[in-house]
Amino acid sequence: MFVGHYAAAFALKGKEKNASLGLLFIATQFVDILFFPFVLAGIENLKFVEGFTAINNFNMDYYPFTHGLLGSLLWACLFYILFRFLFVKNRANKKSIALVMALGVLSHWFADLIVHTPDLPLIIGEPKFGFGLWNNKVLTFAAEAILLILGLLYYLKRTVSISKSGKYIAIVFVLFLLTVNYLSMYVLPAEDNINSLSISALFTFFLLAALAHFVDKKRN
Ligand SMILES: [Zn+2]
Repeated sequence: MFVGHYAAAFALKGKEKNASLGLLFIATQFVDILFFPFVLAGIENLKFVEGFTAINNFNMDYYPFTHGLLGSLLWACLFYILFRFLFVKNRANKKSIALVMALGVLSHWFADLIVHTPDLPLIIGEPKFGFGLWNNKVLTFAAEAILLILGLLYYLKRTVSISKSGKYIAIVFVLFLLTVNYLSMYVLPAEDNINSLSISALFTFFLLAALAHFVDKKRN
């Protein structure tokens, strides 16, 4: 899953308005941000198998540290500790900020569960889970779009515009995310080189987080 992960970022920002939407974009994508360097370092494994799913050629047969449920839970705990005790200083609501950041990290596994083929382990090895929506392109696109729009609606309901552009900028941003998803699914060629895939994925994750930060500055 790609842009659908940001549904959780919008929803959690709606829940705790003092959390940063930009950082929630990093949190919800955090295990994928780790996955690419882990593959490059040989810690986890990604094989390119032509036509593996309708969406991509990714056969991820070993990635327990980033995409195991236990692994995800541990990264979520790390986020909780960092935001509870280090990053957020002198704030009454730092407990709840830390909690939404941790839930953001954990949400990734459950969102991936919808689309992945059964390759998500609980700890390491079997059993592995995944409902396999990636076998259907239209349904994958629709599912990510619906999740994202629901997240956006909750965010819009819970926050208010504090500048002229704040009224529509989040809507424009979500339309942009859906366009990016459409291009990556239907237009751009499949990327089967781990080096260039890693660079483009990491660049995209951080660019979108920066844009989310900018959008969030227009609302409160
Ligand atoms: Zn993932």
